[in-house]
Amino acid sequence: MADTQNATNNNENESAETMQINPQRAKQLVENVTAITKRIEAANKSNRNIRLIAVSKLKPASDILALHQPQPQPQTPAASPPSSPAQPFQTHFGENYVQELLEKSRLLPRSIRWHFIGGLQSNKCKQLAEQIPNLWCVSSVDSIKKCNELEKGRKALLSSSSSSSPSPTTTTTSSSSSTATEPDKLRIMVQINTSGEESKSGVEPADALPLCQHIINNCPSLHLAGFMTIGAIARSHATTPENENEDFVALRRVRADVAKGLGWDETKLELSMGMSADFEGAIAQGSDEVRVGSQIFGERPPKKDAVV
Ligand SMILES: *Cc1c(COP(=O)(O)O)cnc(C)c1O
Repeated sequence: MADTQNATNNNENESAETMQINPQRAKQLVENVTAITKRIEAANKSNRNIRLIAVSKLKPASDILALHQPQPQPQTPAASPPSSPAQPFQTHFGENYVQELLEKSRLLPRSIRWHFIGGLQSNKCKQLAEQIPNLWCVSSVDSIKKCNELEKGRKALLSSSSSSSPSPTTTTTSSSSSTATEPDKLRIMVQINTSGEESKSGVEPADALPLCQHIINNCPSLHLAGFMTIGAIARSHATTPENENEDFVALRRVRADVAKGLGWDETKLELSMGMSADFEGAIAQGSDEVRVGSQIFGERPPKKDAVV
């Protein structure tokens, strides 16, 4: 509905509408996501819901739009009821750099759900949480200070959006909820350093509970969603469905301990683990969310050569 959209939103749509997409590239990307989705389904023996984040860092905005736009549905018989409104093909995208995400989020549709998965600096947190209304999750949170800054930013966004625009909830139908543009609490995944490597970011497993308690008790604009690990690269390469990855074992243990400490049911906390090299093994070990980049978009350019 046009009257519930603000001017910025219309501009964003114009940018997306004028963006050039190479049809061959688009076809390739859709095929790649389809192939990954099939592999996820095959690895998912317990029929959980598993979210695929397409990690688009250092890749152009046109690649993201090519994957987000609805794809033609298989032909339905003429007698069948009219098909529902076209749904985005891929909704969840992951980015690692604040500046790059700010630029892309301004160019691309609000119906994208952005995940910030990269190394996070405290001094960028407020901007990140406030300026990107469709930032859906920050997966790399590892300090109280960063939580407090994210809280400030999302709190400011929520109070400005509730006072400046009337809520559209009374006029929207349930079919539009999948593309909702109203900002909500910001989901947080606490990043755990499961490998004990000095160079890896993330909190030590023993520090996870106090950080989670801080989010629950002091950050009303944030929602504690679960835990994320990257894991040691050497272990990732050795991960097969038969060969358990110790980082993933450690992340499960953190969830069990924190859930116990909070008195929560474990199922309220998701595990984000698994990348291109090891997502099938991660799923076998209970992952709820996999973050796949190079297997969808191909090798990434050096950061200095990347173009939005
Ligand atoms: C880049 C990145 C990914 C994706 O890596 P691929 O190996 O290309 O799939 C996943 N998670 C995080 C945190 C990343 O930085």
